[in-house]
Order: sequence, then C-alpha cells, then structure tokens
Amino acid sequence: MRYVIIGGGIAGTSAAEELRKIDPDAEVTIVSMEEHRLYSRVLLPRYVKGSLPRERCFLKTEAWYEDQNIERVFGVRAESIDAGSKTVSLSGGRKLKFDKLLLATSGDVLTFADRMHGVSYLRTIDDADHLLQLLNECDALDNERRRAGIIGGSFIAVEYLNFFAQRNIPGDLFMLEETFFGGALDVESFAILRSRIESEGAKLHPKSSVSGIRGKGRVEEVVTDKGNFSLSLIGVGIGIRADHRLSRAAGLNVNVGIVTNEFLETNVPDIYAAGDVAEFYDTLVGRHVVVGNWLNAQAQGKTVAKTVAGERTAFSAVRAYSTNVCGVEVIFIGDTDLRHSQRTLIRGSAEEGGVTQIFIRDDRIVGATLVNRNADRAMITETIRERVLAAEI
Ligand SMILES: Cc1cc2nc3c(=O)[nH]c(=O)nc-3n(C[C@H](O)[C@H](O)[C@H](O)COP(=O)(O)OP(=O)(O)OC[C@H]3O[C@@H](n4cnc5c(N)ncnc54)[C@H](O)[C@@H]3O)c2cc1C
Repeated sequence: MRYVIIGGGIAGTSAAEELRKIDPDAEVTIVSMEEHRLYSRVLLPRYVKGSLPRERCFLKTEAWYEDQNIERVFGVRAESIDAGSKTVSLSGGRKLKFDKLLLATSGDVLTFADRMHGVSYLRTIDDADHLLQLLNECDALDNERRRAGIIGGSFIAVEYLNFFAQRNIPGDLFMLEETFFGGALDVESFAILRSRIESEGAKLHPKSSVSGIRGKGRVEEVVTDKGNFSLSLIGVGIGIRADHRLSRAAGLNVNVGIVTNEFLETNVPDIYAAGDVAEFYDTLVGRHVVVGNWLNAQAQGKTVAKTVAGERTAFSAVRAYSTNVCGVEVIFIGDTDLRHSQRTLIRGSAEEGGVTQIFIRDDRIVGATLVNRNADRAMITETIRERVLAAEI
C-alpha cells in the first residue's frame, strides 16, 4: 500500500506515525513545503519570549523519520493531483503514485503589505526567528521611535500584545471588529481584557481599519481610518487562507476548507483531509466546521489514519483552545461562531473579574468562551460532549 500525505505539520505527521503503527509494510511519504522537521507552532510564542530554546520547539528528530521508515520529501510543493491516475506532481518534476492520499495542508498566512522591513507575520519557525530580530532592533531604538503596531484582533494578534508587553514596547492594536476573536467575545469579557492590556501600555482601536503601511525601505507609519500612527515594527495577525487550487483541480468539494464527512473522507474516493484545512462534519455540534487548533489537528491525523488504513473511524472531540493575554486566561470550547448561535447566556461580569459566555443552538449548549473562569471548563466540555439539553442544566 502506498500512502502519500501532503503537509508535514502535526496533522500530517500524526497520520504518518499512526499509519506506520497500523501497517508496518506500507510505503508512507510526507510531502511538505517547509524544509523543517516537525516543530510545534504552539511553542513559538514561548521561543519568541525567551522562555524556551529554539531547539525545544522541534518535536521530531531527523532520525525519527528514518527509524519509522517514513519518506520525507520536504522543501517541495505538491502542484497537482490527478485523482484518476492517483498521481501527485511535485515542484521539481517528481511524480508520486498513491493508493490513498491525505491532504493536511492547512493554509497560507494572509499578508497585509509587501514584506517591508519591520513587518512581522507569525506562522513558521522562520517567522519567529525574524520577529526576534525585529524585536531586538526595536529595543535598540530611542524612546520616540520605539513603538509597535498590531493589525488584527485574534489569536496571533494577541500574541503580539504579549511580546510587546514583555519588552515594554508601547503599541497600538487595530482591528475591524468591536471585540477580540472575530467578535466572538461579548463586551463584558472584552472589557476585562481591555483594561488589563491598556494597563500594560498598549492602546486598542476596535472598529478601525488599516489602509496602508508606509516607510522608506522600512516601516515608519501605519495609515488607518483613525489617523496615522508612527511606529517601527508591526505585527500582522489577520488569519490564514487555504489555497484550494490543488484540491479544486482534483475534483474535491471545497468551501472554506476541504469538505469532508465525520470520517474525514472527501467526495473523491481514497482522498482524505485533516487538520486546519478540513471542513469536517462535527457530529457534536451538528454542522461542518473548520478548526484552527493543535490538538484537533493531531487527533484528526491519528483518527483519519485508521480510516485510511481500512478501519473506518468517525472523528469526534470537543475542541478547546486556551490562550493567555497579558495575564488574562481565555478559553474557547466547542462552537463559538456567533453566526451559528441562536442564543447566548452570560455568567459573571467584568466587575467580578471573570465571564463565561455560553452559546446555544437547538436548545443545546454547543460552545463557550471563558475569561478568567477556568473552573467552568470541565462542566461545559462534558455538557457539549454528552449533548445535554440546556434546560436540563
Ligand atoms: C504562533 C502560533 C501559535 C499557535 N498557538 C496555538 C495554541 O496555543 N493552541 C492551539 O490549539 N493551536 C495553536 N495554533 C494553531 C495550530 O498550530 C494549528 O492549528 C496546527 O499547527 C495545524 O496543524 P496542521 O497540521 O493542520 O497544519 P500546519 O501545521 O500548518 O501544516 C501544514 C503543512 O502543509 C504544508 N503545505 C501546504 N500546502 C502544501 C503543498 N501544496 N505542498 C506541500 N506542502 C504543503 C505547509 O508547508 C505546512 O508545513 C498556533 C499557531 C501559530 C502559528
């Protein structure tokens, strides 16, 4: 059996590892655009903050791939898939035949402007190296020029708040929405975060849009509908987008992600998708979702490997994402997309220092955001997993 996996991140690598366990004789190949062996994107913020050495971000050694007899074709792009002849064509001209193909390609970081010096993105370990260099340069500037900006209001943008706060670099954050995380946070939760962040020296500009970054050779100014702001470093965290040209040309159904059922099977036989790129049917919340989450990607990689190898297994898990913003703990559980919520309930308040927002659809709790209320986590997770009616709680 020949298994080809496109994407050497946590979803693709977990799938390869599991396939090797199930089928010791199979040919397993991972194709990935990045040159690096598997590393943790989740640990990158700790590396940037200096609390973790770079080497500790790597989760596999070079020898691991050899020991597992997993062929590694890295630094190469999969350019086309021919579903009929079951062939993947790679940059450089090589063609790989497969019996089963897994797409674990996630997405490309959305860029705001050209890569002008002083503009930072944070997706890869190379981006983290570059950011460290920019932070060190910014530290060396005189007080007037030592200012940073952030474009975006979601998970990566708030990491930049932490980086700048740690180095006492004053900054301005510009986001289109009224509250963080695509507007998923209610105003009380946002108030808790805002007061903590602003006490650390940053200024938030909700409902503001950035139209340009200016500078001669390097960043000097950001142009927004609230005015122009002088700065010398800008962190951009406006999301990722999957490049679906490969999947579309192979005849796969794509929407925001590659559409799959709960078994992570696409509409084309013997082609599967897992991790951030999959728009899978989540049986727990009753709709198709795209999830950008490490544990989800890892678990999907392991689960899909079983299906790929012939033990058809449905994926089901209550997803959770936790982050810490300038000392405030924020946790997302389940489906927190407001557009798909019929009702929300709020527990706690900004005054009490903690808020839980509960999302309800079809009388069931489908998700929650917790700000400084970790104690609610286990109960809410269980409620979603067991599909308990909201009225029963
Ligand atoms: C800085 C940072 C912090 C994060 N923190 C958290 C956190 O605290 N908690 C959490 O749950 N999640 C976090 N995440 C998100 C988490 O890291 C992702 O959800 C997870 O890495 C997704 O894994 P994946 O395998 O689906 O995709 P990826 O890890 O992105 O891997 C996809 C791979 O596919 C390759 N690829 C794409 N197209 C092609 C092609 N055509 N040919 C060949 N190769 C291709 C890419 O080069 C890439 O290596 C964080 C992400 C970042 C960037």
